[in-house]
Amino acid sequence: MKVLVINCGSSSLKYQLFNMENEEVMVKGLVERIGIEGSKLIQEKGDDEYIIEEAMKDHTEAVAHVFDALVDKDNGVIADLSEIDAVGHRFVHGGEKITKSALIDKEVRDAIEEYTKFAPLHNPANLMGLEACEKLLPNVKNVAVFDTAFHQTMPAKTYLYGIDYKYYEEEAIRKYGFHGTSHNFITNKAAEVLGKDVNDLNIISAHLGNGSSICAVKNGKSFDTSMGLTPLEGLVMGTRSGDIDPAAVTYIMKKENLSPEEMENVLNKKSGVLGVSGVLGVSGVSSDFRDLENAANEGNERAKAALDMFATRVKRYIAGYMAEVGACDAIVFTGGIGENSISMREDIMEGFELFGIKIDKEKNNVRGGCHVVSTDDSKVKVMVIATNEELMIARDTKSLVEA
Ligand code: AMP
Repeated sequence: MKVLVINCGSSSLKYQLFNMENEEVMVKGLVERIGIEGSKLIQEKGDDEYIIEEAMKDHTEAVAHVFDALVDKDNGVIADLSEIDAVGHRFVHGGEKITKSALIDKEVRDAIEEYTKFAPLHNPANLMGLEACEKLLPNVKNVAVFDTAFHQTMPAKTYLYGIDYKYYEEEAIRKYGFHGTSHNFITNKAAEVLGKDVNDLNIISAHLGNGSSICAVKNGKSFDTSMGLTPLEGLVMGTRSGDIDPAAVTYIMKKENLSPEEMENVLNKKSGVLGVSGVLGVSGVSSDFRDLENAANEGNERAKAALDMFATRVKRYIAGYMAEVGACDAIVFTGGIGENSISMREDIMEGFELFGIKIDKEKNNVRGGCHVVSTDDSKVKVMVIATNEELMIARDTKSLVEA
């Protein structure tokens, strides 16, 4: 079975074609600047790159170019589109209606429409990708895999906000959590590596990337997570503020006469390590942790402060979540930073020695892959596991279509 996985952003589209007999990625690619001048498709097959630079005015045109690239005589990997058995789509927000991946039907579509109010940039873009596939591959089944679904097992005590209950009842304002596909992948992989039944597994999954979130997994299920109603809550991120006193938000809005949309833009795009590391009034050093680490090593105090803040908040969440899950089997690092920043993992784990949890500096000298990086006598294992959200989407798509 061949499964195409599509992840649409507002002006971009990532794709991977999987051969599910061996879960091999046959080809992957990226379309940038959809609907903007300079549209470009870059497809990678092994070390070869195939580039299409042509105007793509919307997602339907972008998907049409993806299909052309897949069947291209010289650069493609399939002879005909009929070889694609199913398409798996990443969706961001399924709210309370969606608890697991699903074949597209009216109920799923209604949920996507309903929860667009909390993901106004993402859900409509994801939907455009789906509609393009329905139009161009009418006989192929489509599956939706949601970032929020894995977290629907959270109990009320972790998902409710401390505000008037009517906002939950009337507006569905609550914590939903994101990166669920990644936390789910990490949970299953950790169970496999540790040789445990996933239903008995307690871990802290730290997905640290441009967007970052932590998940407390209890008995294989999401019990608590750091992102909230939207992906803005929780850790300090590349450009997102994470947790902040709501009164600071209203103060800034009043002081600078900002509209709600303008304030959202500040919190989503101009905050986080980018905002903290910037020289006052001038744009930040960077949201990229490699740049920040280099700047900090060269003595940039602001970059160092931003990195320290990031590590401190991750530490705070891990410690809190360990108390929530009880006997913890592992703390797992994933995502661009979690998988690759050796120094950040060390900084985060500093202080846990007091609780008998110790990182082994030599073992920690790894990037990506799947490794235990704690000492043999550490009370809780510390692991690095490379996440693979696309593979998770492909697996769910295969099993739903076969069923
Ligand atoms: P993601 O959103 O998961 O792709 O992660 C992106 C983040 O990972 C960026 O902030 C990168 O700077 C960071 N990252 C990637 N490689 C490294 C590395 N070798 N050291 C530190 N950070 C890294």
